[in-house]
Amino acid sequence: MKKFAIAIHGGAGTILPSLMTPEKELLYRNALKAATEAGLAILKKGSSSLDAVEAAVMYLEDFPLFNAGKGAVFTNAGTHEMDASIMEGLNLEAGAVSGVSHIKNPIQLARLIKEQSGHVYLSGLPAEQFAQSCGMVLEPSSYFYTEERYKQWQQVKDSDTYQLDHSDKIEQGEKKFGTVGAVALDQHGNLAAATSTGGMTNKRFGRVGDTPIIGAGTYANNATCAISCTGHGEFFMRAVVAYDISCLMAYKGLTLQEACRLVVNDKLVKMGGEGGLVAIDSHGNIALPFNSEGMYRAWASATELVQTAIYKD
Ligand code: ASP
Repeated sequence: MKKFAIAIHGGAGTILPSLMTPEKELLYRNALKAATEAGLAILKKGSSSLDAVEAAVMYLEDFPLFNAGKGAVFTNAGTHEMDASIMEGLNLEAGAVSGVSHIKNPIQLARLIKEQSGHVYLSGLPAEQFAQSCGMVLEPSSYFYTEERYKQWQQVKDSDTYQLDHSDKIEQGEKKFGTVGAVALDQHGNLAAATSTGGMTNKRFGRVGDTPIIGAGTYANNATCAISCTGHGEFFMRAVVAYDISCLMAYKGLTLQEACRLVVNDKLVKMGGEGGLVAIDSHGNIALPFNSEGMYRAWASATELVQTAIYKD
């Protein structure tokens, strides 16, 4: 049987069993499983890793517990500004979008930008106009509203804090990053990566994180690996995390595991950058490193049924 595999994440951060109810944990695990299965079904029938990562991310964008699409966090202006990107390892083609407020599935728009705009990256209102010109329907702001996110924002909106997510119990020092992402290898040996986010609660409006930045939050290259990141975006941008891992493999001959460990558990930690990522190499090896308390994650392959995990092992 030809190899194929997929790994996804639903965000990293201070995710502790003590802050979770069994019911909520089940909801998260079921959603992670369903998103992985959506991608896996595409890989199984021999379709592309690009289709698989898009499908998995769309599932999570539609699921309100994650900070992407419906359920995106609020900016300090009380708005939603979503970012997303997608990349194909076969030809290094990529599409990215930032600061959109009316797009149900920003990952779909990122793919449209890759395939139909002649550019890599569009932002804000013009990106929404491009979406409309491609036949996408704009959603009213009310579509993105969830009570949980609103409460989270109320707790921090008059402060300079802009980090919290995933929980309505925001404690001092608690950080949650609910971005979603997926990486996959298909039966043709092609890698792809996709990431989508609402950013960080109470972020300054106009702020763009690592998610739409090719090489920072997302990267895919058939010669090395595919990566989708989640965490404190400012650090992931400064550390050029996704591309750094690919470079360590390409130029230094490190394995996926070694490169991920060096960047996530050493370099980022020294900088103070909290978060994690999902990664896959051209042999189908998967790495799921994080330096936070937990990371919502799931994975599956041609030979392994869907596994989900949340906390540190
Ligand atoms: N990386 C995202 C950002 O900085 C946040 C997240 O991962 O949840 O916008």
